[in-house]
Parts: sequence; C-alpha cells; structure tokens
Amino acid sequence: MKDAFASESSRRDFLRTLSLGAGATLLGSSALASPLNWLAPGRKLGVALVGLGNYSTGQLAPALQQTKYCQLAGVVTGSPAKAAQWQQQYGIPAKNCYDYKTFDRLIDNPAIDIVYVVLPNALHAEYVVRAAQAGKHVICEKPMATSVADARHMIAAMEKAGKKFSIGYRLHFEPHNQAMMRLGQSQAYGKISHLAADNGFKFSSGGTPWRVNKKLSGGGPLMDMGIYCLQGCLYTKGQVPVSVTAKFTPETGTGYFKEVEAGVNWQLRFADGTVADCRTSYAENMQGRLRADAANGWFELEPAFGYGGLAGRTSKNDGLLNLPNSNQQAAQLDDFAQCVLLNKSTRVPGQMGLRDVQLLEAIYRAAETGQAVSTKDVVQLIDRTSAH
Ligand code: NAD
Repeated sequence: MKDAFASESSRRDFLRTLSLGAGATLLGSSALASPLNWLAPGRKLGVALVGLGNYSTGQLAPALQQTKYCQLAGVVTGSPAKAAQWQQQYGIPAKNCYDYKTFDRLIDNPAIDIVYVVLPNALHAEYVVRAAQAGKHVICEKPMATSVADARHMIAAMEKAGKKFSIGYRLHFEPHNQAMMRLGQSQAYGKISHLAADNGFKFSSGGTPWRVNKKLSGGGPLMDMGIYCLQGCLYTKGQVPVSVTAKFTPETGTGYFKEVEAGVNWQLRFADGTVADCRTSYAENMQGRLRADAANGWFELEPAFGYGGLAGRTSKNDGLLNLPNSNQQAAQLDDFAQCVLLNKSTRVPGQMGLRDVQLLEAIYRAAETGQAVSTKDVVQLIDRTSAH
C-alpha cells in the first residue's frame, strides 16, 4: 500500500481527504482499521518547541522521543547556547533553529508542521498568532491566554489560517482523568452532588520569577495550578457552571506575592445545584485532588494532576480507578498529530481554552468584588470523548 503514494505529501493529502465510505470501498476494512499505517516510516510530523524552559526540557522533549506520529524537529529560543545544546542532544538541524526575531521564517520551512508554544502565559497570544500567520498547526500551553480578548484573537487567527489548534491539556489523554470523565458523565455512582479539588505548591526563590509577575503570568496559582481543579470539576460533572464565588487566601509574608494572589478558594455552582469547592495556592504544597460525591458513592483521584504516579479509589472498592500511568504528553502529542493527519477535531480545542479563560476571569472578579459572578455566558463546551 505504501508504494501507491509517490510522496509523503500526497500520502498526507490522501489521508486528509479520506472519508469512511470512500475509504471502505477502496481499501477494505483491515487497512481502514489504522489508516495511519501508511505514513512513511521515516517521516513523522515535525514539531517545533517555542521556549526551552522547564516544561519543554523536562517533559515535552523527552515525550517527543516516544511519539509515533510526530517528532521533535525544531526549536525557538532566545539563547544560542541552548540552541546549540538541543541541536546536539536531539540531532536537530541548524536550519530548524529559530530565535524570537527569526520566528516568522518558519513559513518557509516544510519540516515544521506543528508549533508548540511553551512560553510564559502572556506571550502565548503573540506567538500563536505569528505561528498561524506562518501557516502552522499550533498547540498552546495552558492557560491559553491572560485575557478573554487575547484568547478570541488567537482563535480568529487560527481559523483564518485554516490550521488545527489545541491547548496543552495533557490530562484529557490520561487514563485516571479519562475515567473520572466517564464515571461522572455517565453517572456510574448516581448523580454527583458535590465536587472537591485542590492543587498547589510552595513557590520559592528557585522558582520561575515570571509566575509571580502579573504582566507575564496574568495571575498567580489560579492561572497555573488552579486551572487543573477547574478543568477536573467540569469534565467530571460534564457541565459548565452557572456561577462562581471566590475568596483570596492571605499573603504569607514571603514577599513573593506583591502582584499576584498567594492563593484562592472558590466555589462553582452548577445548574442542578451541585457545588464544587476548589483551592489553589503558591503558599502550600498540595498533592492535587479531585473528588466526586454522588448519590450512590464517591470516587476520587489523589494525586490527581501530576505527570505520573496518579492514583484513584472509589467507595465501592470496585477497582474502576486502578489504572496504569502513562506518558501523558506523548499521548497528547500523538493525538494532535492524528488530528492533523486525519483532519479530525481535537478534544481540547482553542474554544475550550477560551472557556477556561472566561471562567478564570470570573473567579478573579468574584474574589475581587466578594459577589457571586454569573458564568452563564461562557463557552458551553465539555470533552465527552471518554463519557461512554
Ligand atoms: P519556564 O520559565 O521554565 O520556561 C519559559 C521559557 O520561556 C524559558 O525558556 C524562557 O527563557 C522563555 N522566555 C521567552 N521570553 C521570555 C520572557 N519575556 N520572560 C520570561 N521567559 C521568557 O516556564 P515553564 O514552566 O516551562 O512554563 C511555560 C508554559 O508552559 C507556561 O504557560 C506554563 O503554564 C506551561 N506549563 C504547562 C505544564 C503542563 O503540565 N501542561 C507544566 C508546566 C508549564
């Protein structure tokens, strides 16, 4: 079958236009079972990481050594020393290394299919828009943006470019969190009556200073760690909340939190009366927890949100949350590559990033005013891929 395609691009064009009906007639069911088998063995989609900080170095580059449908092909960095080191470590050709000024020349580089933006939050918007203008598919780290206006601008730029766009929500590709979606959304333990989630760590002087610089981060632990609690409650309940209340937790006297909150506790209210109590902090180490109490029992993860070591339990001791840990980032990256190759929709699109930025803004408004804030107008989008 491979030889039927003269070049990688014709093979990919074919995959993009493949419809199930036409494919079934043409190819038979065994080939259809995994059309990605036709990808040339030597050519995976090329990913360029933008920003070579902790997450790119510690998680994404190693994950890209395990992916099947994409690979680390380029980098964008302001540091020539890092560019040289990454070239050597990962065999990246010099022609695929860019800095923030030469970034736009990506438009002329067919070896880069996907640009992955891993910069401080406030820089996401600029680089997503520039990547769109360079005609690339894009993954953008969470939180998508530091304002709703930026998030909308990014989505519009990606739509104009006609390219795939997703947010780096790795837990949607992780078995324990997928099981929380399934158990909650299918009401396996009855209707959920209460949710609880927390996530945080003690910020220290060895940390990344931009995280407590409001201009670069857009906010403190809520933007960074609290977003996992927010996401977890929405995908477990299977609904978007109708209102929020919130309260900042006090400054701890460390001097770090002059511009951003040290912590925040908030409550989401859903249309059926269910409440979710959430906590996040840069002043307290928290394992990361996601728990649902339902009519016929409870189910929970703790740790819930880390890169590995996740563990779950249920009131019925039925083993439904005894699951393997896996490389979340490799699964996330390969899913996005398949979205590109097969022209599928991603389960974590820009619209979901926008939904969450709308909710984060509402939580900040609630904490600042002491009033409940309606969230009825936020994007109504839930990942139901794991629900059944
Ligand atoms: P980091 O500080 O370790 O890395 C940021 C990189 O951006 C650095 O290499 C830095 O040199 C570069 N940079 C470029 N311009 C900069 C500027 N003006 N100021 C500061 N740095 C600049 O941060 P990180 O922990 O890698 O986080 C990067 C992004 O990834 C954030 O949006 C964060 O929320 C996200 N993240 C996601 C996960 C996840 O699990 N999905 C985990 C960690 C971080």
